[in-house]
Amino acid sequence: MPELSHRVQTFTDSVIRRMTRISDEVGAINLSQGFPDFPPPKAITDRLREVAQEGPHQYSVTFGAENFRQALADKQGRAYGRTLDPETEILVTCGGTEAMMCAMMTVCNPGDKVVVFSPFYENYGADAILSGADPIFVPLVPPAFDFDPAVLEDAFRQHPKAIIVCNPSNPCGKVFTKEELLFIGGLCNRYDAYMITDEVYEHIVFPPYHHVYAGSLPEIADRVICCSSLSKTYSITGWRLGYLIGPANVIEAAKKVHDFLTVGAAAPLQEAAVVGLQFPQSYYDGLARLYAEKRRLFLDGLDRIGLKHTVPQGSYFVLVDIGDFLKPGTLLAGKSDLEFCEWMIRTVGVAAVPGSSFFREPVNHLIRLHFACSEETLRKALDRLARLPELVRVSE
Ligand code: GLN
Repeated sequence: MPELSHRVQTFTDSVIRRMTRISDEVGAINLSQGFPDFPPPKAITDRLREVAQEGPHQYSVTFGAENFRQALADKQGRAYGRTLDPETEILVTCGGTEAMMCAMMTVCNPGDKVVVFSPFYENYGADAILSGADPIFVPLVPPAFDFDPAVLEDAFRQHPKAIIVCNPSNPCGKVFTKEELLFIGGLCNRYDAYMITDEVYEHIVFPPYHHVYAGSLPEIADRVICCSSLSKTYSITGWRLGYLIGPANVIEAAKKVHDFLTVGAAAPLQEAAVVGLQFPQSYYDGLARLYAEKRRLFLDGLDRIGLKHTVPQGSYFVLVDIGDFLKPGTLLAGKSDLEFCEWMIRTVGVAAVPGSSFFREPVNHLIRLHFACSEETLRKALDRLARLPELVRVSE
């Protein structure tokens, strides 16, 4: 039989989603792939019931239903502090995943370089391969996950076509400050590159940090292509509703990519989600408070168990240090983080993602857990994780 494309031989399936499949197989508590285990707002599901009767059930406008784009332009326009044109500056996609893929395919030629911070959300690796781009990795250095401005400028000296900025960052929870965004955007201006942002956790930010939309900064706005989605904001990850906001010339080209990739996002789901896009500010304040409470509960629990972890400024992910559990004398001595996660799913009953899926650097001592769960699930997961030290018998 003919060989399959070289493209598909250069990357594996997503480790995040593989962990979910193993977790489902054994009935573990799934803290690997980040999605809520609680229902979306009732107003949205009530509207979905009506839409099931009333429609639409056929394609929406390829670029996004008109009322959905208008509601999105109104909501994001308020956040940006300027009017967004739903016709020329917005494109609705099948989730944030398509938004990023579409942005990359719109901007990059095969062989173009793209700057990616490490750690990074694993999709970006495959996005780069599928769009033919070569990543240049720039480390975000723990514990604060800051970048070294000189190292970043060195990367720009290689004349990348774009930089991907995940803000708030998955998996490290970094929230970029206005100054950092202006510095990165300034490099984009100086070296003539695009800034592609992934802002799907825009509403999950913990005080005193706050989210700054790169596209709202006039100094850099004409280079910013924002990818985001409704998944995390309205707890509807399965609806696959995402979008791009960007300069009109970019969006015009991205529309063509999107048209032939997917034709369009699900019409009935766009219609039902409009009511969510019209929620008042109090909804988003409540969401941030809800996640702050979950973060407190989960991090306190990890502290009680004695697990070292990051403290996210935003997003719902925590990196937990499992280095001690892989040391000589333990049950899992010398194992990889992937083997640790597979063991943990089966033996402890909690699924996590091996940290190595997010880092360019050879990192083997971290796992990523999410806390987008009900209090009950989080407590149960913490009870199980509390057995970790005894199960791996850490030698003193
Ligand atoms: N962004 C979420 C995560 O990192 C979900 C990813 C996905 O599977 N689309 O877990």
